[in-house]
Amino acid sequence: PAKYLPELQKHWKQDGGDASYALLTHAFILVNSTTKRIKIVDTLVNLLRILIEGAPDSLLPAVWLATNSFAPPYEPAELGLGGSVISKAFKNIYGLNAQGLKTLYNKHGDAGDVAFEAKKRQSFTLKKPKPLTIKGVYQSLTKIAKSKGTGSQETKQRIVERLLQDTRSAEESRYIVRTLVQHLRIGAVKTTMLIALARAFLFSKPPDAKFSTKGMEYLAKLKKEELTEVYLRAEETVKASYARHPNYDDLVPCLLEIGVTKELLVRCGLTLHIPLRPMLGSITRDLSDMLTKLQGRDFACEYKYDGQRAQVHCDSNGKVSIFSRHLELMTDKYPDLVSLVPQIRGESVSSFILEGEVVAVDQDTGDLQAFQILTNRAKKNVEIGSIKVNVCLFAFDLMYLNGEPLLDRSFRERRDMLRSLFTEIPYRFTWVKNLDATSADSETVLEFFKSAIDVKCEGIMVKVLDNEIKPGNGITDSVNGNFDEEPAANEEVQDKQLSLAATKKKERNTRRKVLLSTYEPDKRLESWLKVKKDYSTSSDTLDLIPIAAWHGNGRKAKWWSPILLAVRNPETGLLEAVTKCMSGFTDKFYQSNKEKYSENGENVISRPSYIDYAGHPDVWFEPQEVWEMAFADITLSPTYTAAIGLVSEERGLSLRFPRFLRVREDKSIDEASTSDYLASLYRKQVERAREEEVALDPSVDDNI
Ligand code: ATP
Repeated sequence: PAKYLPELQKHWKQDGGDASYALLTHAFILVNSTTKRIKIVDTLVNLLRILIEGAPDSLLPAVWLATNSFAPPYEPAELGLGGSVISKAFKNIYGLNAQGLKTLYNKHGDAGDVAFEAKKRQSFTLKKPKPLTIKGVYQSLTKIAKSKGTGSQETKQRIVERLLQDTRSAEESRYIVRTLVQHLRIGAVKTTMLIALARAFLFSKPPDAKFSTKGMEYLAKLKKEELTEVYLRAEETVKASYARHPNYDDLVPCLLEIGVTKELLVRCGLTLHIPLRPMLGSITRDLSDMLTKLQGRDFACEYKYDGQRAQVHCDSNGKVSIFSRHLELMTDKYPDLVSLVPQIRGESVSSFILEGEVVAVDQDTGDLQAFQILTNRAKKNVEIGSIKVNVCLFAFDLMYLNGEPLLDRSFRERRDMLRSLFTEIPYRFTWVKNLDATSADSETVLEFFKSAIDVKCEGIMVKVLDNEIKPGNGITDSVNGNFDEEPAANEEVQDKQLSLAATKKKERNTRRKVLLSTYEPDKRLESWLKVKKDYSTSSDTLDLIPIAAWHGNGRKAKWWSPILLAVRNPETGLLEAVTKCMSGFTDKFYQSNKEKYSENGENVISRPSYIDYAGHPDVWFEPQEVWEMAFADITLSPTYTAAIGLVSEERGLSLRFPRFLRVREDKSIDEASTSDYLASLYRKQVERAREEEVALDPSVDDNI
């Protein structure tokens, strides 16, 4: 872990207790020289360790500068530096004329690289500047961001020129300018910084800190796997804290005071008026993929509205903040939602954080409107009286209530609280439309999905309702385990505990993907699935022959539903049943179908010998027409005999979510799809799934 330490230490100069900017610059150079994640992480860890131990006050500014920001996303802060400020500074400080500047820009394209070249060429400096410090550079940035109103341009210009003047090397100039134009071009992204912070605090602590670290010597003795496990635990804690409270201004001082302990989540966890990073949904190929993933679970299907995600915070004084999906404060975009808060919160609610989708709606009918309509609303300073785009908040989650975080509660509990403690206001605040189901309810789920598409939603979100699987479906393990046992006093035993805990945690995380229904900020798990309309059907269709039917139920009692369909096998002359369909038909179609195949009519026959199907329909049709059918995918089936022997010796093929498209008037039954064609589509689908599996494999994405 100390591989890059000596190299960085060479650049380590202190100026009255502050770390030099040269140290940070050198870390940037090292990070920039590689694409290897391990080198990036190690460099950052070593940089942070030097600062924690030698200049703890410089740690926070260094973290901001390395993550290319200087304030959290929810605090509106901008440098507001136009390109002309930088160009003017190049002219004034490096003596470049307009032509020289243009040539350099044309050659390099990057303002930082221009600064590098210009600094290199600078022939003289009046006097050797005082070295820039990390703290000083950060303070200059905040001064630039704060300077507003008349004279602010001049102030900003002065600060920028001062910074350029004070750089001692061409590399420092490069990174100062990249920082000023907010494009650092290094891989020190958010997750890497959090990992680096977690690891650095395992090795190092500030000189006067009260907490104890494991210490370099002790950790260096650990086996690789043991060290990895110690890292893993620390990283999880730091990431969890940041996901709940994404502000380095709070996280870094807390780490300097207490190190990486569980206390961090209490001291720097979910907080009112600070947005948590939202939980994200995983993509599924289609409904059947979703149903397979959630087999054995109770889940909620919800309309996936096409609007803007909103996190609404309200404290016990009634102050309201609304945050976007990307954590920007947008309270003044939605004064109409703010004004609803006193009416929607029930008497027992003092403070809360809830989440929902803001959608443009027709004020008179409540009909959903397209996302484009919502984009017509101004982004800032919207006046209640002048609102032209009416919105409704469709709430779907409750993360905090009356001073208590609810993240660890099951989704069912959170949703119950949301729906019982808050009050709907028609067309302005309501719940997302939902259907609770299990994998056995595929037809109902399909109907629900279609109803979502009909009202112009993007598809559905599917969320696991409970934390544990019901007994009897193979997975009975409790998710809680005894992971959080008290640490032993002895360090060695403690570390064994840590190893065991980390292994358990890894296992738990794998299972957690589907086992938990807790709210997991900033995570994309399989307990939240998205099924979008684009993925709803395979683009292939089949031309099938309707061969039999059953009496319908409920509303459909007077018609035939479902209807059995077949492919033809030209080798044997048999019609092989492939699927039952009850979807895609209009009432009018059902009606005429019933008239055509009326019970004692000429088109109804007794069980024919040329049909291969073991089930017992209520009525057999005289085969005579071809229907074009859409479907989600083709599955192996123990019931249907279509294409048996072509892909499997024992099993035939069937269709998931078959949907009637139209009657192929132009086709006779001799032109219906064959079992061979069905088998070829099945093989194609298997091939496609393999390719997609590679594309969807989350381990391929390592965040760098
Ligand atoms: P992601 O947010 O997952 O990175 P994205 O921004 O493209 O990707 P989508 O993939 O379209 O978003 O799906 C997630 C988004 O759907 C949520 O962020 C939220 O804004 C929206 N949404 C609409 N209805 C719901 C719902 N019922 N539950 C959760 N999210 C919903």
